[in-house]
Amino acid sequence: MTVLAGNILNAHTHLELGCLAHLCPGRGGNAFVPWIGALIAARHEISASGELPFQRSAEEGIAQLLASGVATVGDISATGASVEPLLASDLSGVVYLEVLGMDRESARRHLRERQRRIDALRRRETAGGVRVGLSIHAPYSCHPELFREGAAWCWAESVPLCVHVGESRAERDLLQTGAGGFSALPNVFNVADVPAPGCSPVAYLQDLGVLEAQPLLVHCVQVDSADIARIAAAGAAVAHCPRSNRLLQCGRMPLEQMLAAGVRVYLGTDSLASSPSLDVREEAAAANRLHDGKVTPQAVYALLHTELVVL
Ligand SMILES: [Zn+2]
Repeated sequence: MTVLAGNILNAHTHLELGCLAHLCPGRGGNAFVPWIGALIAARHEISASGELPFQRSAEEGIAQLLASGVATVGDISATGASVEPLLASDLSGVVYLEVLGMDRESARRHLRERQRRIDALRRRETAGGVRVGLSIHAPYSCHPELFREGAAWCWAESVPLCVHVGESRAERDLLQTGAGGFSALPNVFNVADVPAPGCSPVAYLQDLGVLEAQPLLVHCVQVDSADIARIAAAGAAVAHCPRSNRLLQCGRMPLEQMLAAGVRVYLGTDSLASSPSLDVREEAAAANRLHDGKVTPQAVYALLHTELVVL
């Protein structure tokens, strides 16, 4: 295990998505499924005319992190745009290159391409700098084989792994029954191609061997006590993004149960497409309000100064 020291930690960002800040829901929020449908459409539209907006967003995001006192970041990059700016920055942490896809063969090709890229980038890692990891996006967007192969490779090669899991009710319903909110986006993730396992999202990842790679699990709102025990037993960590969860109407992560079970919990802002700012101190203030009476302010603010531990 490696301990990445930091002053303030923002454990979950997508810096390249700053150019999609107009999609961030207002006070009333927006349901998760229509929001992610709009996000994917907007991202494709930008990609079609070049990657420059993503690169500019990554650079601006790094400046915002440094201005807010952040020394360590966990960033996910689907386009690769934030990799070079982060490696060249004064930040420490991990940039996770993302893979997804429900079609088994094209998803495996995508994974091979990511593995080659990560192998090449890892030669440039420096002590105390930014490491390169793999993000396997989420249970609703990735073929199970992607989880099996990707997590086994991360474990064998000591590559940090990150997965979004248990974020929305739609995701929970999809895995339990094969139905629910994602039926509104039949052609976006092709969720009908994979049979529902009939279990919780965290149990699904456990069955696929993902927890053995001690991943950083993002969100974990839709979890029960058995899921929390699974996360704790595996030594996985959780990134908590309460403002994004509120604006996407996902619910409240049971922070007090996570902490009682000994789970390592970090705070993260998520992207500007679902968060009003990249200032994780504002995330801590929101968490303090959300968990008032259940978790002490001292315990909440301590999460800002937690060390990021990865494989
Ligand atoms: Zn995210």
